[in-house]
Amino acid sequence: MNYIVFDLEFNMFFKFKESDLANPELKNEIIQIGAVKLNEALETISSFDLIIKPVIYRRMNPYVKRKTHINTSRVVQGTPFLKAIESFHSWVGDDSVLCSWGHDDILALRDNCLFFGYKMLAFDKFINIQQIYMKYGSLSNQPSLESAVEGLEIEVSNPFHDALSDAFYTVDIFRKVYDFSCDVIINWEKEQKENEEKIEALKQMIDKATIRCPQCDRLIQKNGEFTKAKKYFAYGCCLECNIQIRHISRIAHRDGEYSIVSNNTIYKSDEIGPLAKTAQELTNSE
Ligand SMILES: [Zn+2]
Repeated sequence: MNYIVFDLEFNMFFKFKESDLANPELKNEIIQIGAVKLNEALETISSFDLIIKPVIYRRMNPYVKRKTHINTSRVVQGTPFLKAIESFHSWVGDDSVLCSWGHDDILALRDNCLFFGYKMLAFDKFINIQQIYMKYGSLSNQPSLESAVEGLEIEVSNPFHDALSDAFYTVDIFRKVYDFSCDVIINWEKEQKENEEKIEALKQMIDKATIRCPQCDRLIQKNGEFTKAKKYFAYGCCLECNIQIRHISRIAHRDGEYSIVSNNTIYKSDEIGPLAKTAQELTNSE
């Protein structure tokens, strides 16, 4: 059994001109896969590095470009995703454990595979190295790769935000914090599907939330409401306290559990209308 420590860079939507629209089916398009293959003793066997040609977000988002130093002319010459993922898959081999820093990369890898119709890669064995590091350092907030490298006094020899060099840093961390006696391999695919089902169930319930007056705790009648993806907004008026109330519910993820978190706030009449204001807030928070 080998460990595949991988890292991805992705490009995402940027409004270059007014008519540009994001593709809701793919938010993060992979533009680089970097990975290191380790044996059971965590010794390096080989590495993998490919630039991928984006087809949804062809022009580099300026923020991503600044961070990764990958420009449009470089990705144009990249490998198409399906070809890249096929060669990645054959390099990964069977009976390997995928390992990465946090959940974002494995999520993006699966999303890209689904989007481009590649169903061969298995996500049933996964190690989240960030989680191991957090347990090791008794941390409650998710640390960045840079801060973990610093925290473990790992020598910085290459720039961050290059998929391959980030994969190598993740390997350095993995070697320092991995406890061979602990079983940390999870069935990511199974967990992910269960989470998606939980979110779907909560989405069905989100607009059933009741509004309460934050001052007197009375149940308030809804004067208006709308739902947007994982958020629900309603407003009403407490006739006892003579105040306007705005209600926001959203699906939150805390300590591995999904739940609906509701918040009722007093809205003052000199503010702009509650519907307009919240619509603005919901758009800004995305
Ligand atoms: Zn009240």
